Amino acid sequence: MGKKKNYKGYQSWSFLEPFKDYKPYVLARQVRRVNSRVIELSKVEEERFQELLEKSIVISFHEHSSVWPENPAEFIEYARGGRYWIGYEGLAVAGIDGFFEGMENGTGFIRSPDPWDWDNIIHQIGIYRADIDHQDMVFIATKAEDFIRAHNEGKIAMVLHLEAPPHIGEDIIKVDILYGLGIRCMGITYSKGNEFGSGLADKVDRGLTDLGYELVERMNKLGILIDLAHVGDKTSLDVIEASKDPVVVTHAGARSLWPSRRMKPDEVIKALAEKGGVFGIEAAPHTTLTFKNPRHSIESIMEHFQYIEKLVGIDYVAFGPDTLFGDHVALHKVFASYLSISKAEEGPEHPRVEFVDGLENPSEFSNIIRWLIKNGYSDQEIKKVIGENILRVTRRVWGG
Ligand SMILES: [Zn+2]
Repeated sequence: MGKKKNYKGYQSWSFLEPFKDYKPYVLARQVRRVNSRVIELSKVEEERFQELLEKSIVISFHEHSSVWPENPAEFIEYARGGRYWIGYEGLAVAGIDGFFEGMENGTGFIRSPDPWDWDNIIHQIGIYRADIDHQDMVFIATKAEDFIRAHNEGKIAMVLHLEAPPHIGEDIIKVDILYGLGIRCMGITYSKGNEFGSGLADKVDRGLTDLGYELVERMNKLGILIDLAHVGDKTSLDVIEASKDPVVVTHAGARSLWPSRRMKPDEVIKALAEKGGVFGIEAAPHTTLTFKNPRHSIESIMEHFQYIEKLVGIDYVAFGPDTLFGDHVALHKVFASYLSISKAEEGPEHPRVEFVDGLENPSEFSNIIRWLIKNGYSDQEIKKVIGENILRVTRRVWGG
């Protein structure tokens, strides 16, 4: 993470007047909201951790940096209000130089009941940028070198990442517009399919459509990284084959360890790695579970990491924890019908947790490094999975 992050105490929207310009909320604590475990290290390991953190480029493949109200009863109103508070304070201590911000996940039904409506997406991009431009720790990344700049200057590079494209039909020029507005990573579908292909929640996967092939080609030409996190299996294989560039999964796990649709089969993971892509390990509550560790915690998450690392090699794995600031479990309950959390997507019965112990919110990212040290990974291996693999694929697709 290089130099200490240059956080001067800025809070989102503090340049506007509360009650007059916006409705304020009592927001969740960004650091240590709950008593999540910190992996314990010996004195020697602790020194190694500090040195690794200082010297490495650290990038999270998927987060939601928004801070949610302390009271879950206000979640819907907060989402509909169309204004997000970014967790600058939590990000400042996360140990990261950059992260991919999941710009839409089905909760942003602001201008239209359809979260993937064009106006909703434009609203979200604009509102993020309006806030970010009033401080100087977080900035929008457009080239791979921005991660290095963030590392050297005590800043954090935020990648604008749409989990799926808006419904643009045949209007492919709108992909150029999204690139122009700063989008550098985008899915092909969310969990429910669209005009481009099938999503992971669809019963029948019809593969990439003709329009989907056009979309892939345009994303390649522009330099937008393609994310298959929410895409159906057959559509994913079609995209991997059609894409000129490597593609990624920013947040998922291995279906061989946990039989749910959100997890990816070995076939997709292998095809992605053969193409030079990178697979980010997910940590949102009740996703990356395993039969050995069915109570979701950093241990279940790291089982997925180890499985995929053994399957395809250390050069193709990273971490996209997909966490947020606030009560994530409550958020899933409130937005259940909008998010990909139906029974088929969660897999077999398993114990429910209040929070994911050891990886609860974006500020806990460096706990992954502690776990890797504790479990015998070398400095070189750790550097690859906490940032260098993502750096490689973004250099290739974005340049810089
Ligand atoms: Zn997602």
